[in-house]
Amino acid sequence: MSWEEKVRRVTPYVAGEQPRKKNIIKLNTNECPYPPAPGVARLAAEMDWEALRLYPDPDTSVLVNALAAYYGVKPSQVFVGVGSDDVLSLAFMTFFNGNQPILFPDVTYSFYDVWAELHGIPYKTCALDENWHIRPEDYRQPNGGVIFPNPNAPTGLAESLETVEEIIRANQDAVVIVDEAYVDFGGVSALPLVEKYDNLLVVQTFSKSRAMAGLRIGFCIGSEKLIGYLNDVKFSFNSYTMNLPSQILGAEAVRDDAWFRETTAKIIATRERVKKELKELGFSFPDSRANFIFATHESIPAEQIFRALRQADIYVRYWNKPRISEYMRITVGTDEEMDRLLDFLKEYVNSL
Ligand code: PMP
Repeated sequence: MSWEEKVRRVTPYVAGEQPRKKNIIKLNTNECPYPPAPGVARLAAEMDWEALRLYPDPDTSVLVNALAAYYGVKPSQVFVGVGSDDVLSLAFMTFFNGNQPILFPDVTYSFYDVWAELHGIPYKTCALDENWHIRPEDYRQPNGGVIFPNPNAPTGLAESLETVEEIIRANQDAVVIVDEAYVDFGGVSALPLVEKYDNLLVVQTFSKSRAMAGLRIGFCIGSEKLIGYLNDVKFSFNSYTMNLPSQILGAEAVRDDAWFRETTAKIIATRERVKKELKELGFSFPDSRANFIFATHESIPAEQIFRALRQADIYVRYWNKPRISEYMRITVGTDEEMDRLLDFLKEYVNSL
């Protein structure tokens, strides 16, 4: 018998490319084109590096308290992790322990099936309708839990709070996770429902709207009971997940509300302008409420455009997968970056 028979084998999630090449226009992993809040740089410069000798606070209190104050909940309702991927993976491990399959959309964040496989959780996907919307009636079948992003990825489409609540109401005997990685760009958050439903977990991230993907900060808010169970699993796994700089700088990013509002408003305005210009070039897309546009062209295959853009050092995301292979996902960058993208596309489309 070989040792390899005892290995847990999984097919890993493939993250978007992080090219080493300098001076490219990077529109492939939904990062924020603007820097983090000015207070973050200030605090980083003043940081007491000697403190790195010590283990960080395992309860991440400074960050948890800042988030609780910002969102108007108790600190005992907040949990933070190393990016929302960490929070989501732990939540899968903690809450999806039934025998029945968990449910999520067929076109969605492609990490969900990877975590399900990793943690040995059975799952079933529910097809989005022809307009890429979630069909709430699909989530009325027996299940071991429910997860979906709102806005969804990679479509960028947002569901109404009524649809989200309909799904939660129909699933009172399982945990429902709403992944709100992109909610700050125009979606409607399910956070107000946390007081009403003790089985609802709302997950958000600092990687997009707070421009801190490099520090890896994610968090979730739910009932004290849910957060308690999550902490039990976290402290059985790794007590010191979040490093000290992330805790301190993350808390500062939450406090600097004005910057956060200003930069997200700018991204939204750029997105709406780019949508109009893309339409004129023959592209169509679901009406994104995220910081990206999931676009297809009326006559040119998406993969061909993706490759041409890459040649021009403009990186967008493309998946050769069923149902989405005619689409590419374009992160909304600065106005200058989008102008370069649009100029290239104009010339490219007209040259064919
Ligand atoms: N959820 C969704 C829907 C995402 O697209 C992403 C980004 N890839 C994440 C969660 C994870 O982001 P992070 O770990 O950087 O918080």
